[in-house]
Amino acid sequence: MDTPSVKEILHHHQLRVTSGRCDVIQLFLASSYALSAKDLENQLPQYDRVTLYRTLHTFIEKGILHLIPHDGGLAYFGLSDEIRQLLTDKETATRTHHAEHIHFTCTACGRTKCLPDNLVPEVTLPENYQTSEVALLVKGQCPECQ
Ligand SMILES: [Zn+2]
Ligand SMILES: [Zn+2]
Repeated sequence: MDTPSVKEILHHHQLRVTSGRCDVIQLFLASSYALSAKDLENQLPQYDRVTLYRTLHTFIEKGILHLIPHDGGLAYFGLSDEIRQLLTDKETATRTHHAEHIHFTCTACGRTKCLPDNLVPEVTLPENYQTSEVALLVKGQCPECQ
């Protein structure tokens, strides 16, 4: 992914273009796996923690990244569906119903991945229960570990 597209993403979300923001987005675009704040610290040592955390926070707020449900331990982040759509097919209208996608954690390599094409199935609850959020984390073995 080249730099103009990264700038487009920032412009699209009314964010000022800074090298830190560009580098963080680039890293997510280049990674096929979800990243933790620790991964960012390790891979972008030229920025201090505060800058990286602030950038993550801004991106979550703007809907560029989303927080991935995780069973304890580190928080992982992935690109939002909106950004994936923006990058793959700019003309496609955003999905009408905003369903969450499934997340997958490999028990062998420990990597977590967004599965943007696999949506969380509709959940039916007993009467008088109201859903505010549904998160689905599937565990198993990724293609590389089989
Ligand atoms: Zn694996
Ligand atoms: Zn995800």
